[in-house]
Amino acid sequence: MMAGTSTVEVKCVKCGRIYETEAIDHIDLSQDRDLYRRIQRGKINRAQCPKCRKVMYLDRSVVINFEPLDLIVVYDQTAKSASARKEIEHQFRNVTSFNEVLEEIGNEVEFEVISDLKKLKKLMKDYTKTYG
Ligand SMILES: [Zn+2]
Repeated sequence: MMAGTSTVEVKCVKCGRIYETEAIDHIDLSQDRDLYRRIQRGKINRAQCPKCRKVMYLDRSVVINFEPLDLIVVYDQTAKSASARKEIEHQFRNVTSFNEVLEEIGNEVEFEVISDLKKLKKLMKDYTKTYG
């Protein structure tokens, strides 16, 4: 299993089959080239039922560290509204493990919640143009 990923159990909404899939939790862009490429190629946290082939998206956030930029992005495809994004930002600022990440890179970090995958891909592309 790759760093920044975890194995999660998913229940298929169509046929009820329970299966395991790999979820991306955290990406450090300065290190995780493979995860970066996977995101540029496709979707994030997409799971497909091995029995009936139903595709589902995991209800999870992905934290992306844009170091050496002072920028942390939380990608959450469910955060379509400004208030939903605000809520996620609030949650993350209260999570201990996330605060450790913040401490590592300092408190001057900019924090952004993104629900639009295209926007995220563009940010990541711009990043690799400079730091890739
Ligand atoms: Zn299924």
